[in-house]
Amino acid sequence: MSIAIETPGLTETQRQIVELARDFARTRIEPFAAEWDRRAHFDRAVIDELGRLGFLGLSVPEEYDGMGLDTVTYLLALEEIAAADASVAVSLSIHNAIPATMLIRHGSAAQKQRWLKPMARGELLAGFAMSEAEAGSDAAALRTQAARDGEGWVLSGAKAWATNGATADLMIVMARSERGISAFVVPTDAPGYRPGKPEDKMGLRASNTVALALEDVRLPGEHLLGEEGAGFGYAMEGLDAGRLGIAVQAVGIARRALEHAVAYCADRRQFGQPLREFEAVQFKLADMATRIEAARALVHVAATRRDRGEDITTHTSMAKLFASETAMWVTTQAVQLFGGYGYMRDFPVEKLFRDAKVTEIYEGTSEIQRIIVARGLYPGA
Ligand SMILES: Cc1cc2nc3c(=O)[nH]c(=O)nc-3n(C[C@H](O)[C@H](O)[C@H](O)COP(=O)(O)OP(=O)(O)OC[C@H]3O[C@@H](n4cnc5c(N)ncnc54)[C@H](O)[C@@H]3O)c2cc1C
Repeated sequence: MSIAIETPGLTETQRQIVELARDFARTRIEPFAAEWDRRAHFDRAVIDELGRLGFLGLSVPEEYDGMGLDTVTYLLALEEIAAADASVAVSLSIHNAIPATMLIRHGSAAQKQRWLKPMARGELLAGFAMSEAEAGSDAAALRTQAARDGEGWVLSGAKAWATNGATADLMIVMARSERGISAFVVPTDAPGYRPGKPEDKMGLRASNTVALALEDVRLPGEHLLGEEGAGFGYAMEGLDAGRLGIAVQAVGIARRALEHAVAYCADRRQFGQPLREFEAVQFKLADMATRIEAARALVHVAATRRDRGEDITTHTSMAKLFASETAMWVTTQAVQLFGGYGYMRDFPVEKLFRDAKVTEIYEGTSEIQRIIVARGLYPGA
C-alpha cells in the first residue's frame, strides 16, 4: 500500500521523483536496513549513490548544480527514503536542509562554488554541529569559542551528538566569537577536528552520531559563513527547513509501520478469522491511517508556505510536533498489532518503533516545539 503516490494532485515531476526515490529505497536501502541497524553500520556507499542521483542537492537551485525542487517535492522524496530507513533519511535531511540552506542563503559566491556546488553534486557530505553537552534545547548557551587569528580563526570546544560528524566531508560548526554566535565551514580533515566514537543508540543505529572535540582548529577567514555574530539566526532558518525534514522522516516511519500492520492483520488469524475482521483492529488501523494523513498534510502546508516565502516557524513546529508524536503512537500500535512477534527483532516494526523515538527529541524536543507554537499565538509579546 502506498499513500503518498495516491495523494491527488501530484505533478508529473513530483510523481517521477517519488518513483525514483521509492525504487531506490526499495531495492538499495530497505533490504539492507535491518542488517545495518544490527551492526550500527553507516553505509557511505549508499549515500554516494543517492548523491549521484541528485539526492544531496534536492532543493539546491539548479544554478548551483542542484535539482532545484520546491520544498513539497523535496519532502515527498525524503518520505520515501525514510520509509525504507530513517537512518539514511536523517543524513540526507540534515545535509539538504541545514548546511545547504545556510550556504544558499548566506554563502558568498566563492563559498557556493567551493562547497555548495560539490555538495549538490553529491561529491561532499555535510553536517551541522550546534549542540553541546550543556547546550541542547538552550542552544544559544553554546560555549565553543572562535578566536580571531590574523585573517583567520581558531575554533576550540566540544560538540555533542553531531550527525554525520565522523562521516561527513564538512560540517557547519556554530561557535561563539567576539560579536556573538557565528557559523563556520569546517572541513573534517582540518587538523584538530576530532570525532569521538559513534554513539551506541536506541534507534537510527545506522546513522553516524558522534561527539566532536575541536582542538585549536585553524580556519582561513573565508570559512566564516555570512556575517560574524549572525550565525544563530542562520541556524534557526536552517532548522525551519530541518524540522520539516524530521517531520517527514516521522511520516515515512509511521507510514511503513502502517503498511506492515495492514498486511499482517490481513494474514494473521486468531479465533478463526483474520485480525483485520475484528472491529477493534479496524478502529486502530483507521486511527493510524488518519493521523498519518493529518501529519503529512501539516508538513505539506508548512512546505507550501516556505515555497511562497512566508514565515514558517510556527507551522514547521506544529508539523514536527504532530508528525513525531504520530510516528511514536503509530509504531506503538503497530508493535501491539503484531503481538509477541512485534517485540522480536526478526519482524520489522520494532526497528520502526525504536527509530521513531528520536523524532520527538532532535532538532528541538516536543516540549520546545510546543513553546514555539504557543509563542506564535502571541506575536510581538
Ligand atoms: C540521534 C541524535 C542526533 C542528533 N544530531 C544532532 C546534530 O546533527 N547536530 C546538533 O547540533 N545536534 C544534534 N542532536 C542534538 C539534539 O538536537 C538535542 O539532543 C536536542 O535539541 C535536545 O537537547 P538535550 O538533549 O540537551 O536535552 P535538554 O535540553 O537537556 O532537555 C531535556 C528535557 O528537558 C526538556 N526541556 C528543556 N528545556 C525546556 C523548557 N524550556 N521547557 C520545557 N521542557 C524543557 C526537554 O524537552 C527534554 O524533555 C542530536 C541528538 C540525537 C539524539
